[in-house]
Amino acid sequence: MAVPGAYLDHAATTPMRPEARARMVEALADDLGNPSGSHRSARLARRAIDEARESLAEVLGCRPGEVVFTGGGTEADNLAVRGVQAARPGLVSCSAVEHHAVLDVVEALGGIVWPVGTDGRIDLDALASGLAARSGGAPVVLVSAMLANNEIGVITDLSAVRGVLDQHAPHAVLHTDAVQAFPWLDVSSAAAPAGLVSVSAHKFGGPQGVGALVVRDGVPLAAQSLGGGQERGRRSGTQNVAGIVAMAVAARCTADERADTVARVARLRDRLAESITSRLDDVAETAVPVDSAGRPDRSGKVAGSCHLCIGGVENEALLFLLDQAGVAASAASSCASGALDPSHVLAAIGIERDLARGSLRLSLGTTTTEAEVDAAADAVVASVTRLRRHAA
Ligand code: PLP
Repeated sequence: MAVPGAYLDHAATTPMRPEARARMVEALADDLGNPSGSHRSARLARRAIDEARESLAEVLGCRPGEVVFTGGGTEADNLAVRGVQAARPGLVSCSAVEHHAVLDVVEALGGIVWPVGTDGRIDLDALASGLAARSGGAPVVLVSAMLANNEIGVITDLSAVRGVLDQHAPHAVLHTDAVQAFPWLDVSSAAAPAGLVSVSAHKFGGPQGVGALVVRDGVPLAAQSLGGGQERGRRSGTQNVAGIVAMAVAARCTADERADTVARVARLRDRLAESITSRLDDVAETAVPVDSAGRPDRSGKVAGSCHLCIGGVENEALLFLLDQAGVAASAASSCASGALDPSHVLAAIGIERDLARGSLRLSLGTTTTEAEVDAAADAVVASVTRLRRHAA
């Protein structure tokens, strides 16, 4: 990745960790065989995958046999939602702020979308009453609630969600999309209440196009790609050996350094948010409550997330000016067309469409420096001032 003056789009993808890149290059150079084969180079490939599986399982808090390697977060999410419904007929469901890799699948399958509060978390009362009202109807077989939101960074307490399910839909599987959470939270404990957990390597310093779904023993899941029966029949297709071993290295480094990274990046994020909000009026930090002394409380968000709604600007124009200034940022989640769809996340938490048009997601990562943060804050202030002056 060509890193510009300030790269603040780590939630879209984060640079590969040098250790992961080195391991990937080594695996590619080894010309490993097909891990399903029986000769020596096939066995070497299989061993490399087995070691990666063991290592990843340890940081994810599951058993090696519960890890299903996929082609990324989207495939893991699709497998979770479609796979449960195919194994156990009933309704699938998710919160209104899920990534499209979950939300679109639930909608395509005619499932239920649960409302969220203004804090960005699934509304537990609405979930409880919605599930209770369904008794006698088709059962809800899956509830998907993301551990950390990709736009606004809000963290969900999955044990509270599981508690509601235990009361009203004890057989429902809890799936969590932990794609954005992994860099910042100990997924082995935070996602423990979930039977299915999705992760994606390129969000934590691994390569793009590889991820995993944790399928805990006993969770009903029907394969969605049939063929060679790889991944114990749960995901056919020759595994991406080099990608998988690199992902395992990235995951291990991330977990080992997580506490220090979170502390350092949270300080940078606070500096960034405060530098912008203190110099511009009509800027609100999304899903950040303010205490009685006027201090923002960002503890409910992951450390790398700074999301702002800026009055009087259009995010497309703002992103253009920021790009020209060498600052990589985004408005909502990235999508293939590069178009800026109105954010379903901001709509779900009750942010007016007009204000949502000025949304800006600045996401930090392990490589973020103080100089980048200061340059980005200056560029945001200058660009917003310029746009507002033009609009006046
Ligand atoms: N889920 C979340 C929360 C994401 O942020 C993303 C990527 O932006 C995905 C799923 C999709 O992951 P991938 O890009 O690996 O398909």
